[in-house]
Amino acid sequence: MHALRSAGLTVRAFEAGSGVGGTWFWNCYPGARCDVESTDYSYSFDPALEQDWTWSERYPAQPEVLRYLNHVADRYGLRPHIQLNTRVTATVWDDGRREWTVLTDDGESRTARFCVMAAGCLSERHVPDLPGLETFRGDWYHTSRWPREGVDFTGRRVGLIGTGSTGIQIAPEIAAEAEHLHVFQRTANFAVPNRNRAFTPSETDAIKARYPAHRAEARESMLGVPVTGTGLSALEESPENRRKTYAARWEAGGGMPLLGTYTDLLVSPEANDTVAEFIRGRIRETVSDPSVAELLCPRAYPVGAKRLCQSDDYFAMFNRPNVSLVDVRSTPLTAACPDGLRTAAADYELDALVFATGFDAVTGALSRIAVIGPGGQSLRDAWREGPRSYLGVAIAGFPNLFLVTGPGSPSVLSNMVLSIEQHVEFIRDLIVFTGDRGVAAVEATERAQEDWAAHVDEIAQETLFPRADSWYVGANIPGKARVFMPYVGGVGPYREQCDSVAAAGYDGFTLTYGG
Ligand code: NAP
Repeated sequence: MHALRSAGLTVRAFEAGSGVGGTWFWNCYPGARCDVESTDYSYSFDPALEQDWTWSERYPAQPEVLRYLNHVADRYGLRPHIQLNTRVTATVWDDGRREWTVLTDDGESRTARFCVMAAGCLSERHVPDLPGLETFRGDWYHTSRWPREGVDFTGRRVGLIGTGSTGIQIAPEIAAEAEHLHVFQRTANFAVPNRNRAFTPSETDAIKARYPAHRAEARESMLGVPVTGTGLSALEESPENRRKTYAARWEAGGGMPLLGTYTDLLVSPEANDTVAEFIRGRIRETVSDPSVAELLCPRAYPVGAKRLCQSDDYFAMFNRPNVSLVDVRSTPLTAACPDGLRTAAADYELDALVFATGFDAVTGALSRIAVIGPGGQSLRDAWREGPRSYLGVAIAGFPNLFLVTGPGSPSVLSNMVLSIEQHVEFIRDLIVFTGDRGVAAVEATERAQEDWAAHVDEIAQETLFPRADSWYVGANIPGKARVFMPYVGGVGPYREQCDSVAAAGYDGFTLTYGG
């Protein structure tokens, strides 16, 4: 919004939440913490902002990120232009007037020349269809709709379903409070330590002095975060050197630095096995019961092909007497009942249930809005076989409509803040370009979209990413078309392609001139 307003445009933002902050507004569950370092997970568009704001620690907890986002909203005077507590239900293109009519759940409608869809990649929660949930006598929660007043688990028996990034963060917090925590694990996940710590004043000074260079490196990087690798294949190192290198990175903490150690960890199964086995070794060292440790050792997918989780205390938590691990891969959850959960093997008496079961990712929020383009074509129909876009930012058949971090862009496989900024700048420049040249409508061509989709898929197939049944391919949502959604060609190369499209007068877009 700030970028568009600074370009002289009139902007109205609609936000379903009662506050700003998006994912950091909604995900206020205990233990929520960013797994990208604060110095990367922050805006770069204003050097004064990065000098004025001081991050307290390496990986900021949710309240700090939310404070930062509120500070940004105030600092740039954005609040008067954001309509909170308002959900967009539909947006309909008028071909005669060449504008969108946006309908909201307060019964209002507004028109706009352009629609920028920034509904979030991880905003539509997924609650599994568990028969009998309505009969459960206790309370149940989904982590992304956590009660703002908090939940007291003292003296309660709690069931946690889901062991992804969220489940791994919330579990130790619940375990510290609850009488007993049952962790229902379907797929064991890789997790690496954060080694989170507070910044000292001199570190903060050094970070602020280095911002310009740091941001430049981030923009050129693969993940939107500068990571220094060895430049070697994991397979050309001796096992001893490899172990030492992994151990040093494990001690330093963070998922991206570990995955960036060797050039082939995300493309060669043999190389990937070396880091997988290293992590399994750390799990076995940490968890005292060998049978629990084996159950926690991930084997179902290559490291990094699902989001690599980060936690300093998840595996050690299983040494607590009030925590048990339930394997719902071998004995699936079959139902909820009034007193708890039922698996194929046993009943578990529970007072509360926590679903850390993720999201209808990347396309979920957008597909719940009725986006109707020229000729009455709906986006839901256009994407029935899976999402297709040009650069993850525009869709053929939907003029003057843009996506922020849409499918086909680095988005969720990158530092989101940097990728959001890059998309926002691309969209702003394109809108300004149309205004300067009397362009009434701009739309991606089918050809450009098909070529881009083929490119996104081709690059993904060269990696290990498609080998996991992850939310990156929509595998977590029953019936969702299987398409690998993020662009894995790297943030730097992606930016170059966007820049050259713009430099060529928006190659791959059809421009319709006229008032
Ligand atoms: P997720 O990665 O999709 O994990 C969902 C978990 O729920 C998985 O363990 C899944 O098991 C399990 N599950 C789903 N349905 C189930 C069922 N019917 N029975 C048993 N288990 C079931 O969701 P998430 O943990 O919320 O994370 C989503 C993304 O949000 C992350 O990948 C990350 O990008 C982002 N995130 C980031 C942070 C951070 O910055 N620190 C924190 C949290 C989340 P299966 O694996 O077997 O499907």
